[in-house]
Amino acid sequence: MNFDLREFSSFPVEFVLESEGDNLEGTIEGITFRDVIKLKINLQKVKEEYLLHGVVKAPVDVECSRCLEMYESELVGELDVLIKTTQTKAVMASDSSEDCIYLKQNEHIVDLTDMVRQTLTLALPMKPVCNEECKGLCPNCGVNLNEETCDCSPDEFDERWDGLRNLLE
Ligand SMILES: [Zn+2]
Ligand SMILES: [Zn+2]
Repeated sequence: MNFDLREFSSFPVEFVLESEGDNLEGTIEGITFRDVIKLKINLQKVKEEYLLHGVVKAPVDVECSRCLEMYESELVGELDVLIKTTQTKAVMASDSSEDCIYLKQNEHIVDLTDMVRQTLTLALPMKPVCNEECKGLCPNCGVNLNEETCDCSPDEFDERWDGLRNLLE
């Protein structure tokens, strides 16, 4: 996902970048992209630097951490990037905390692919669930308990644990 700074003559400017999910496919574990990823950008120019604020939205299929089925979701995240147009050798301490892109002289293309990937990775929940009520898989026989029931009763597990405890004693 990139754009050319030379396309704009007045600031601030707003525009939208789109990217086929294929470009990021496989780079984030546990998800597949359903449709184009959209990045809405607000770009400001301050002296020789640019301040970019972006909101990224990606329609995705996510694997539920309980039942392992894929479900439809949307990842939304924001990114703030400082674009410097001259390469500064002395990187100030304050710069390290910001997301910075340094453009060399005569370089005008800003590539945001890595930052979009990072933002989407952070937007993904640690333990995604298809539904708060998701019953998950039976730990014994592995059936999807949202779709069917099995004969493994919770009591059975308890008895086994008792058996194990007895052995240990
Ligand atoms: Zn689930
Ligand atoms: Zn079972």
